Amino acid sequence: MYSLNDKIKNLQPYEPVEENYRIRLDANESFLALPEGMISEIGTELKNVVLNRYPDPTARELCKAFAELYALPVECVVAGNGSDELISVIMSGFLKKGEKYATLEPDFSMYSFYGNICEAEHIRIEKNADLQIDIDTSINLCKNNDVKLLIFSNPCNPTSLGVSKAEVKKLLLALPETLIALDEAYMEFWHESMVDELSNYSNLIILKTCSKAFGLAGIRLGFAASSKQIIDAIKAVKSPYNVNSLTQAVGRVVLSHKDEISKAIGKLLASANELHDGMIKLAEKSGTWKILDGHTNFVSVLMPNAENFLSYMQSSGVSIRYTCGLIRITCGTAEENKEVLRLAEEYLA
Ligand SMILES: *Cc1c(COP(=O)(O)O)cnc(C)c1O
Repeated sequence: MYSLNDKIKNLQPYEPVEENYRIRLDANESFLALPEGMISEIGTELKNVVLNRYPDPTARELCKAFAELYALPVECVVAGNGSDELISVIMSGFLKKGEKYATLEPDFSMYSFYGNICEAEHIRIEKNADLQIDIDTSINLCKNNDVKLLIFSNPCNPTSLGVSKAEVKKLLLALPETLIALDEAYMEFWHESMVDELSNYSNLIILKTCSKAFGLAGIRLGFAASSKQIIDAIKAVKSPYNVNSLTQAVGRVVLSHKDEISKAIGKLLASANELHDGMIKLAEKSGTWKILDGHTNFVSVLMPNAENFLSYMQSSGVSIRYTCGLIRITCGTAEENKEVLRLAEEYLA
């Protein structure tokens, strides 16, 4: 009789949140729809997509648009079917079976998920009690364990906290033989990106996603930026037609509208600040809640009995996340934020 192997037999399929919430603030998506003008431009582009042919395997025009946006050489960029796919490709390509990779916990759960699949050994480095990264401890543990790949998000999901460029540089310089995959999924909401420093380090890969600040979670699109040598290796490891033609067309249009992108990020930031400030006031009232001082489009909260708060919100029709001991609320429209704050106040009362 056939039986599943050890690494997959206890895995559970990813369970998305059910659809019946009136307000969805659980996945850090953008709450903004694309502007009308862009939608019609996308319509025109989609009509010209040749559906009976395979997509461009290197997504050249799409990568060009991305490279221009970030002032990078196009040969230093590769596109993926979401940055999730790139995480998977990087971990399975750059780690051999049994080799060690490190994460800085708590962090994005997909890192250990893909590490497990490629049978690498996971070194879990705990963050400080205040949930900040301890750079010196991280360096020492990576060195002592011969860690081949260190992957972390900055700013971090789920903590919302960020680590400065100076600290990231310290890591890169202290671990020249470790590949450092820096997941900047939320860096559009902060200003400590390492993109402009990429050419100074041979051990740095930066990951970007279109699912958050760019408002394109539905098309599954992400990018990796690194040296030409590393990008060529990723291109060789990935499946050839990983980004479909429809996604390439939509991505090309959206990424070429720099001004619209900045405008959208401005709106998302304003919403995040509004939610953050409202939660700070409630935290003062509560005496026990702690709002983390974040740099993302979500607000992370430490509170006693977080499960109760989670079920209170859910039973009121609002979907949020409770993960790694943190309540995580994605910012939404003005009305959605208001409703969340009203319910949170009601819960406190
Ligand atoms: C959302 C998220 C991603 C996933 O991005 P996709 O491009 O949608 O796969 C990657 N990393 C972090 C830290 C995220 O929060």
